[in-house]
Amino acid sequence: MGLNTRSTALFDEICQIPCLNSHSHIAPEADRLAEAPDALAFFKHAYAASDLVSAGMSSDEMETALTPGLPLAQRWKIFEPYFRWTRLTGYSQCILEGFRDILGFPEFTAETVEPISEALREHSKPGFYHEVLKRRSNIALSVVNMEDLIEVDRELFLPLPRLNRFSMLHSAAQVQAIERDYNVSVATLDQHVEVIRQVCQDWKAATVAGVKMSQSYHRRMDFKQRRKEDAAKVFDRLMRGNYAGLESEEGVLLEDYLVFECCRAASDADLTIQFHQGIRAGNYGSMEGCSPAPLAELFQTFREARFDLSHSGYPYLREGAVLGKTFSNVYLNMSWIHIISPIGSRLDLKEWLRMVPYNKIIAFGDDLRHVEAVYGHLKIARQNFAIVLAEMIEEDLISESIALDIAQAAFHDNPAKIYGVNV
Ligand SMILES: [Zn+2]
Repeated sequence: MGLNTRSTALFDEICQIPCLNSHSHIAPEADRLAEAPDALAFFKHAYAASDLVSAGMSSDEMETALTPGLPLAQRWKIFEPYFRWTRLTGYSQCILEGFRDILGFPEFTAETVEPISEALREHSKPGFYHEVLKRRSNIALSVVNMEDLIEVDRELFLPLPRLNRFSMLHSAAQVQAIERDYNVSVATLDQHVEVIRQVCQDWKAATVAGVKMSQSYHRRMDFKQRRKEDAAKVFDRLMRGNYAGLESEEGVLLEDYLVFECCRAASDADLTIQFHQGIRAGNYGSMEGCSPAPLAELFQTFREARFDLSHSGYPYLREGAVLGKTFSNVYLNMSWIHIISPIGSRLDLKEWLRMVPYNKIIAFGDDLRHVEAVYGHLKIARQNFAIVLAEMIEEDLISESIALDIAQAAFHDNPAKIYGVNV
Protein backbone atom coordinates (compact mmCIF):
# COMPACT_ATOMS: atom_id res chain seq x y z
CA MET A 1 0.00 0.00 0.00
CA GLY A 2 1.45 3.40 -0.98
CA LEU A 3 1.70 6.28 1.45
CA ASN A 4 -1.21 8.16 -0.15
CA THR A 5 -3.58 5.19 -0.08
CA ARG A 6 -2.56 4.38 3.47
CA SER A 7 -2.94 7.94 4.77
CA THR A 8 -6.33 8.28 3.03
CA ALA A 9 -7.52 5.04 4.64
CA LEU A 10 -6.21 6.20 8.05
CA PHE A 11 -7.85 9.60 7.59
CA ASP A 12 -11.21 7.87 7.05
CA GLU A 13 -10.69 5.82 10.22
CA ILE A 14 -9.65 8.88 12.24
CA CYS A 15 -12.82 10.70 11.12
CA GLN A 16 -14.77 7.92 12.90
CA ILE A 17 -13.16 8.83 16.26
CA PRO A 18 -15.34 11.37 18.10
CA CYS A 19 -13.10 14.38 18.69
CA LEU A 20 -12.89 16.21 21.98
CA ASN A 21 -12.15 19.74 20.83
CA SER A 22 -9.89 21.21 23.50
CA HIS A 23 -10.04 24.95 22.80
CA SER A 24 -12.73 26.94 21.05
CA HIS A 25 -14.24 30.40 20.65
CA ILE A 26 -17.40 29.32 18.80
CA ALA A 27 -20.09 31.92 19.47
CA PRO A 28 -23.52 30.76 20.66
CA GLU A 29 -25.66 29.73 17.67
CA ALA A 30 -28.12 32.60 18.23
CA ASP A 31 -25.26 35.13 18.01
CA ARG A 32 -24.00 33.57 14.81
CA LEU A 33 -27.50 33.63 13.26
CA ALA A 34 -27.79 37.33 14.13
CA GLU A 35 -24.31 38.08 12.80
CA ALA A 36 -25.01 36.36 9.42
CA PRO A 37 -21.49 36.68 7.94
CA ASP A 38 -21.06 36.45 4.16
CA ALA A 39 -18.11 34.62 2.58
CA LEU A 40 -15.73 37.60 2.76
CA ALA A 41 -16.65 38.36 6.38
CA PHE A 42 -15.12 34.97 7.31
CA PHE A 43 -11.73 36.49 6.48
CA LYS A 44 -12.23 39.20 9.08
CA HIS A 45 -11.62 36.57 11.75
CA ALA A 46 -8.47 37.49 13.70
CA TYR A 47 -6.35 34.73 12.12
CA ALA A 48 -7.16 35.10 8.42
CA ALA A 49 -7.15 38.89 8.89
CA SER A 50 -3.69 38.83 10.45
CA ASP A 51 -2.28 37.10 7.35
CA LEU A 52 -3.94 39.72 5.11
CA VAL A 53 -2.40 42.50 7.24
CA SER A 54 0.96 40.78 7.05
CA ALA A 55 0.60 40.62 3.24
CA GLY A 56 0.07 44.39 3.20
CA MET A 57 -3.69 45.00 3.40
CA SER A 58 -4.48 48.33 5.07
CA SER A 59 -7.09 48.69 7.79
CA ASP A 60 -9.30 50.76 5.45
CA GLU A 61 -9.12 48.09 2.77
CA MET A 62 -9.93 45.43 5.35
CA GLU A 63 -12.92 47.33 6.67
CA THR A 64 -14.34 47.88 3.16
CA ALA A 65 -13.58 44.42 1.78
CA LEU A 66 -14.54 42.26 4.73
CA THR A 67 -17.55 44.05 6.23
CA PRO A 68 -20.95 43.38 4.62
CA GLY A 69 -22.11 46.58 2.90
CA LEU A 70 -20.83 47.29 -0.60
CA PRO A 71 -21.61 44.73 -3.35
CA LEU A 72 -19.54 41.54 -3.02
CA ALA A 73 -18.00 41.98 -6.50
CA GLN A 74 -16.60 45.37 -5.49
CA ARG A 75 -15.28 44.04 -2.18
CA TRP A 76 -13.70 41.03 -3.92
CA LYS A 77 -11.58 43.37 -6.08
CA ILE A 78 -9.99 44.84 -2.93
CA PHE A 79 -9.60 41.42 -1.28
CA GLU A 80 -8.21 39.38 -4.19
CA PRO A 81 -4.69 40.87 -4.56
CA TYR A 82 -3.90 40.00 -0.92
CA PHE A 83 -5.80 36.71 -0.88
CA ARG A 84 -3.62 35.61 -3.81
CA TRP A 85 -0.69 35.63 -1.38
CA THR A 86 -2.43 34.25 1.71
CA ARG A 87 -4.59 31.53 0.14
CA LEU A 88 -2.12 28.76 1.05
CA THR A 89 -1.76 29.54 4.76
CA GLY A 90 -3.47 27.35 7.32
CA TYR A 91 -5.59 30.33 8.44
CA SER A 92 -7.07 30.63 4.93
CA GLN A 93 -7.19 26.91 4.28
CA CYS A 94 -9.40 26.10 7.27
CA ILE A 95 -12.03 28.50 5.89
CA LEU A 96 -11.66 27.19 2.33
CA GLU A 97 -12.00 23.56 3.47
CA GLY A 98 -15.29 24.50 5.15
CA PHE A 99 -16.54 26.21 1.99
CA ARG A 100 -15.51 23.13 0.00
CA ASP A 101 -16.98 20.34 2.10
CA ILE A 102 -19.84 21.97 4.02
CA LEU A 103 -21.10 24.26 1.25
CA GLY A 104 -19.88 22.35 -1.83
CA PHE A 105 -17.60 24.98 -3.40
CA PRO A 106 -14.06 23.74 -4.15
CA GLU A 107 -12.89 27.16 -5.40
CA PHE A 108 -13.08 30.61 -3.81
CA THR A 109 -13.07 33.08 -6.72
CA ALA A 110 -14.77 36.18 -8.12
CA GLU A 111 -17.36 33.80 -9.57
CA THR A 112 -18.10 31.84 -6.38
CA VAL A 113 -18.00 34.56 -3.71
CA GLU A 114 -21.67 35.39 -4.35
CA PRO A 115 -23.03 31.79 -4.48
CA ILE A 116 -20.99 30.81 -1.38
CA SER A 117 -22.50 33.75 0.50
CA GLU A 118 -25.94 32.66 -0.64
CA ALA A 119 -25.21 29.07 0.46
CA LEU A 120 -24.11 30.39 3.86
CA ARG A 121 -27.42 32.21 4.26
CA GLU A 122 -29.27 29.05 3.23
CA HIS A 123 -27.57 26.68 5.66
CA SER A 124 -27.43 29.05 8.67
CA LYS A 125 -30.70 27.97 10.28
CA PRO A 126 -31.51 27.07 13.89
CA GLY A 127 -29.93 23.67 14.58
CA PHE A 128 -27.15 24.00 12.00
CA TYR A 129 -24.46 23.91 14.72
CA HIS A 130 -25.59 20.40 15.58
CA GLU A 131 -25.39 19.40 11.90
CA VAL A 132 -21.90 20.88 11.34
CA LEU A 133 -20.28 20.07 14.71
CA LYS A 134 -21.82 16.68 15.46
CA ARG A 135 -22.79 15.10 12.16
CA ARG A 136 -20.24 16.54 9.72
CA SER A 137 -17.28 17.05 12.08
CA ASN A 138 -17.90 14.23 14.59
CA ILE A 139 -16.99 16.51 17.52
CA ALA A 140 -18.23 15.09 20.83
CA LEU A 141 -17.78 18.35 22.76
CA SER A 142 -15.98 21.65 22.28
CA VAL A 143 -14.24 23.29 25.24
CA VAL A 144 -15.23 26.92 24.92
CA ASN A 145 -13.17 29.81 26.34
CA MET A 146 -14.93 32.51 28.37
CA GLU A 147 -14.11 35.11 31.04
CA ASP A 148 -16.47 34.28 33.93
CA LEU A 149 -18.56 31.12 33.84
CA ILE A 150 -21.63 31.45 31.62
CA GLU A 151 -23.98 28.66 30.64
CA VAL A 152 -23.60 27.00 27.25
CA ASP A 153 -25.45 24.42 25.17
CA ARG A 154 -24.14 21.36 27.02
CA GLU A 155 -24.94 19.09 24.07
CA LEU A 156 -22.15 20.79 22.14
CA PHE A 157 -19.95 22.68 24.58
CA LEU A 158 -18.06 22.50 27.86
CA PRO A 159 -17.12 25.80 29.56
CA LEU A 160 -13.53 26.84 30.27
CA PRO A 161 -13.65 30.04 32.36
CA ARG A 162 -10.57 32.21 32.88
CA LEU A 163 -8.81 33.22 36.08
CA ASN A 164 -7.26 36.21 34.28
CA ARG A 165 -9.25 38.88 36.13
CA PHE A 166 -8.16 37.42 39.49
CA SER A 167 -4.49 37.04 38.63
CA MET A 168 -3.66 40.09 36.48
CA LEU A 169 -4.48 43.02 38.74
CA HIS A 170 -4.37 46.57 37.38
CA SER A 171 -6.22 48.57 40.01
CA ALA A 172 -8.48 48.59 43.08
CA ALA A 173 -11.45 49.15 40.73
CA GLN A 174 -10.80 45.69 39.29
CA VAL A 175 -11.04 44.14 42.78
CA GLN A 176 -14.23 46.12 43.42
CA ALA A 177 -15.73 44.71 40.21
CA ILE A 178 -14.92 41.19 41.46
CA GLU A 179 -16.66 42.07 44.78
CA ARG A 180 -19.78 43.10 42.85
CA ASP A 181 -19.81 40.24 40.34
CA TYR A 182 -19.14 37.52 42.92
CA ASN A 183 -20.97 39.10 45.88
CA VAL A 184 -17.93 39.02 48.18
CA SER A 185 -15.92 41.57 50.10
CA VAL A 186 -12.18 41.77 49.59
CA ALA A 187 -9.92 44.02 51.66
CA THR A 188 -6.79 41.87 51.97
CA LEU A 189 -4.70 39.53 49.86
CA ASP A 190 -5.87 36.58 51.98
CA GLN A 191 -9.48 37.43 51.22
CA HIS A 192 -8.72 37.78 47.52
CA VAL A 193 -7.08 34.33 47.50
CA GLU A 194 -10.05 32.92 49.41
CA VAL A 195 -12.36 34.20 46.63
CA ILE A 196 -10.18 32.45 44.01
CA ARG A 197 -10.40 29.22 45.99
CA GLN A 198 -14.18 29.49 46.33
CA VAL A 199 -14.61 30.32 42.62
CA CYS A 200 -12.60 27.23 41.66
CA GLN A 201 -14.74 25.04 43.94
CA ASP A 202 -17.93 26.54 42.47
CA TRP A 203 -16.76 26.07 38.90
CA LYS A 204 -15.81 22.47 39.63
CA ALA A 205 -19.31 21.88 41.03
CA ALA A 206 -20.78 23.44 37.86
CA THR A 207 -18.78 20.97 35.65
CA VAL A 208 -16.23 22.95 33.70
CA ALA A 209 -13.30 21.60 31.66
CA GLY A 210 -10.80 23.45 33.85
CA VAL A 211 -9.52 26.99 34.23
CA LYS A 212 -7.64 29.12 31.73
CA MET A 213 -4.88 31.71 32.16
CA SER A 214 -3.37 33.89 29.43
CA GLN A 215 -0.33 35.53 31.03
CA SER A 216 1.89 34.90 28.00
CA TYR A 217 0.07 37.70 26.13
CA HIS A 218 1.88 40.23 28.33
CA ARG A 219 4.98 38.71 29.95
CA ARG A 220 7.52 35.93 30.18
CA MET A 221 6.16 32.83 31.92
CA ASP A 222 8.87 32.96 34.60
CA PHE A 223 6.62 32.85 37.67
CA LYS A 224 8.58 32.60 40.91
CA GLN A 225 7.45 31.61 44.38
CA ARG A 226 7.07 34.88 46.33
CA ARG A 227 6.77 35.56 50.03
CA LYS A 228 3.21 36.20 51.12
CA GLU A 229 4.25 39.25 53.24
CA ASP A 230 5.79 40.89 50.16
CA ALA A 231 2.74 40.18 47.96
CA ALA A 232 0.39 41.40 50.73
CA LYS A 233 2.23 44.75 50.89
CA VAL A 234 1.77 45.23 47.13
CA PHE A 235 -1.90 44.25 47.35
CA ASP A 236 -2.42 46.83 50.15
CA ARG A 237 -0.80 49.53 48.00
CA LEU A 238 -3.08 48.52 45.10
CA MET A 239 -6.15 48.85 47.32
CA ARG A 240 -4.98 52.29 48.51
CA GLY A 241 -4.49 53.47 44.91
CA ASN A 242 -0.74 53.57 45.32
CA TYR A 243 0.30 50.75 42.94
CA ALA A 244 2.75 50.99 40.04
CA GLY A 245 0.70 48.69 37.75
CA LEU A 246 0.79 45.14 36.42
CA GLU A 247 3.89 45.67 34.29
CA SER A 248 5.95 47.17 37.16
CA GLU A 249 8.34 45.24 39.36
CA GLU A 250 5.78 45.08 42.16
CA GLY A 251 3.07 44.12 39.65
CA VAL A 252 5.18 41.17 38.53
CA LEU A 253 5.69 40.13 42.15
CA LEU A 254 1.96 40.23 42.90
CA GLU A 255 1.11 38.40 39.68
CA ASP A 256 3.70 35.69 40.43
CA TYR A 257 2.11 35.16 43.84
CA LEU A 258 -1.42 35.08 42.44
CA VAL A 259 -0.57 32.68 39.59
CA PHE A 260 0.83 30.26 42.17
CA GLU A 261 -2.32 30.65 44.28
CA CYS A 262 -4.58 30.18 41.22
CA CYS A 263 -2.73 26.94 40.40
CA ARG A 264 -2.99 25.81 44.02
CA ALA A 265 -6.73 26.56 44.09
CA ALA A 266 -7.40 24.86 40.74
CA SER A 267 -5.32 21.84 41.66
CA ASP A 268 -7.06 21.51 45.05
CA ALA A 269 -10.41 21.67 43.22
CA ASP A 270 -9.18 18.99 40.75
CA LEU A 271 -9.45 21.38 37.80
CA THR A 272 -7.07 21.21 34.83
CA ILE A 273 -5.07 24.41 34.31
CA GLN A 274 -4.84 25.49 30.68
CA PHE A 275 -2.25 28.13 29.84
CA HIS A 276 -2.24 29.99 26.55
CA GLN A 277 1.32 29.04 25.64
CA GLY A 278 2.86 30.18 22.38
CA ILE A 279 2.54 32.90 19.78
CA ARG A 280 0.17 35.80 20.30
CA ALA A 281 -2.80 36.30 17.98
CA GLY A 282 -2.86 39.38 15.75
CA ASN A 283 0.00 41.38 14.25
CA TYR A 284 3.13 43.02 15.61
CA GLY A 285 3.00 40.95 18.83
CA SER A 286 6.07 40.40 20.95
CA MET A 287 7.37 36.85 21.13
CA GLU A 288 8.09 37.30 24.83
CA GLY A 289 6.02 34.73 26.67
CA CYS A 290 6.04 32.11 23.87
CA SER A 291 8.69 29.98 25.51
CA PRO A 292 7.33 27.43 28.01
CA ALA A 293 10.72 26.59 29.58
CA PRO A 294 10.43 29.25 32.34
CA LEU A 295 7.28 27.50 33.65
CA ALA A 296 9.39 24.71 35.16
CA GLU A 297 9.33 26.17 38.70
CA LEU A 298 5.52 26.28 38.68
CA PHE A 299 5.32 22.73 37.32
CA GLN A 300 7.82 21.49 39.93
CA THR A 301 5.72 23.02 42.71
CA PHE A 302 2.34 21.52 41.76
CA ARG A 303 3.11 17.94 40.86
CA GLU A 304 -0.47 16.80 41.44
CA ALA A 305 -1.92 19.44 39.09
CA ARG A 306 -2.69 18.96 35.39
CA PHE A 307 -1.10 21.62 33.18
CA ASP A 308 -2.49 21.81 29.66
CA LEU A 309 -0.13 23.79 27.39
CA SER A 310 -2.51 25.12 24.78
CA HIS A 311 -0.51 25.62 21.53
CA SER A 312 2.38 23.69 23.17
CA GLY A 313 4.63 26.77 23.21
CA TYR A 314 4.61 27.33 19.45
CA PRO A 315 7.20 27.94 17.95
CA TYR A 316 9.12 26.46 20.92
CA LEU A 317 7.55 23.04 20.47
CA ARG A 318 10.73 21.20 21.35
CA GLU A 319 10.90 23.02 24.70
CA GLY A 320 7.26 22.05 25.27
CA ALA A 321 8.11 18.48 24.31
CA VAL A 322 10.91 18.29 26.89
CA LEU A 323 8.42 19.42 29.55
CA GLY A 324 5.82 16.93 28.28
CA LYS A 325 8.45 14.19 28.33
CA THR A 326 9.84 14.82 31.79
CA PHE A 327 6.92 16.24 33.82
CA SER A 328 4.03 13.87 34.50
CA ASN A 329 1.75 16.89 35.09
CA VAL A 330 2.34 18.58 31.69
CA TYR A 331 0.23 17.91 28.58
CA LEU A 332 0.98 19.05 25.02
CA ASN A 333 -2.07 20.55 23.38
CA MET A 334 -1.98 20.98 19.60
CA SER A 335 -4.84 23.52 19.56
CA TRP A 336 -4.41 26.22 16.89
CA ILE A 337 -1.04 24.93 15.66
CA HIS A 338 -2.39 22.74 12.82
CA ILE A 339 -3.33 26.01 11.09
CA ILE A 340 -0.42 28.16 12.34
CA SER A 341 1.83 25.73 10.49
CA PRO A 342 0.25 22.57 9.06
CA ILE A 343 3.64 21.16 8.07
CA GLY A 344 5.42 22.26 11.27
CA SER A 345 2.72 20.47 13.31
CA ARG A 346 3.39 17.26 11.41
CA LEU A 347 7.14 17.43 11.90
CA ASP A 348 6.73 18.01 15.60
CA LEU A 349 4.06 15.37 16.05
CA LYS A 350 6.35 12.84 14.43
CA GLU A 351 9.17 13.82 16.78
CA TRP A 352 6.90 13.78 19.84
CA LEU A 353 5.61 10.27 19.13
CA ARG A 354 9.16 8.92 19.50
CA MET A 355 9.88 11.17 22.47
CA VAL A 356 6.80 11.77 24.66
CA PRO A 357 4.34 9.22 26.11
CA TYR A 358 1.31 9.60 23.88
CA ASN A 359 -1.17 9.87 26.72
CA LYS A 360 0.30 13.40 27.04
CA ILE A 361 -0.80 14.63 23.59
CA ILE A 362 -4.09 16.42 22.85
CA ALA A 363 -4.63 16.38 19.09
CA PHE A 364 -7.00 19.25 18.45
CA GLY A 365 -8.48 22.56 19.52
CA ASP A 366 -10.02 24.81 16.87
CA ASP A 367 -9.35 28.22 18.49
CA LEU A 368 -11.86 29.68 15.99
CA ARG A 369 -15.28 31.29 15.91
CA HIS A 370 -17.11 29.97 12.82
CA VAL A 371 -18.25 26.33 12.80
CA GLU A 372 -17.48 25.90 9.07
CA ALA A 373 -13.84 26.87 9.70
CA VAL A 374 -13.78 24.58 12.77
CA TYR A 375 -14.72 21.73 10.42
CA GLY A 376 -11.91 22.77 8.05
CA HIS A 377 -9.34 23.02 10.83
CA LEU A 378 -10.27 19.59 12.19
CA LYS A 379 -9.95 18.12 8.68
CA ILE A 380 -6.39 19.51 8.47
CA ALA A 381 -5.57 18.10 11.94
CA ARG A 382 -6.93 14.67 11.01
CA GLN A 383 -4.96 14.76 7.75
CA ASN A 384 -1.79 15.67 9.66
CA PHE A 385 -2.23 12.71 12.01
CA ALA A 386 -3.07 10.39 9.09
CA ILE A 387 0.04 11.42 7.13
CA VAL A 388 2.40 11.15 10.12
CA LEU A 389 0.97 7.79 11.21
CA ALA A 390 1.06 6.43 7.64
CA GLU A 391 4.72 7.43 7.37
CA MET A 392 5.48 5.63 10.64
CA ILE A 393 3.73 2.49 9.37
CA GLU A 394 5.71 2.69 6.09
CA GLU A 395 8.90 3.00 8.12
CA ASP A 396 7.95 -0.18 10.01
CA LEU A 397 7.86 1.71 13.30
CA ILE A 398 4.24 0.96 14.19
CA SER A 399 1.37 -1.28 13.11
CA GLU A 400 -1.94 0.06 11.86
CA SER A 401 -3.66 -0.88 15.11
CA ILE A 402 -1.11 1.13 17.11
CA ALA A 403 -1.62 4.04 14.70
CA LEU A 404 -5.33 4.00 15.47
CA ASP A 405 -4.68 3.66 19.20
CA ILE A 406 -2.55 6.83 19.01
CA ALA A 407 -5.29 8.72 17.15
CA GLN A 408 -7.99 7.45 19.54
CA ALA A 409 -5.90 8.63 22.51
CA ALA A 410 -4.97 12.03 21.09
CA PHE A 411 -8.35 13.02 19.60
CA HIS A 412 -10.55 11.59 22.32
CA ASP A 413 -9.31 9.61 25.31
CA ASN A 414 -6.56 11.96 26.54
CA PRO A 415 -8.62 15.16 26.51
CA ALA A 416 -11.64 13.29 27.95
CA LYS A 417 -9.50 12.21 30.90
CA ILE A 418 -7.76 15.58 31.35
CA TYR A 419 -11.05 17.53 31.34
CA GLY A 420 -12.91 14.87 33.33
CA VAL A 421 -15.63 14.19 30.79
CA ASN A 422 -17.32 10.99 29.82
CA VAL A 423 -18.51 11.24 26.21
ZN1 LIG B 1 -7.90 30.83 21.96
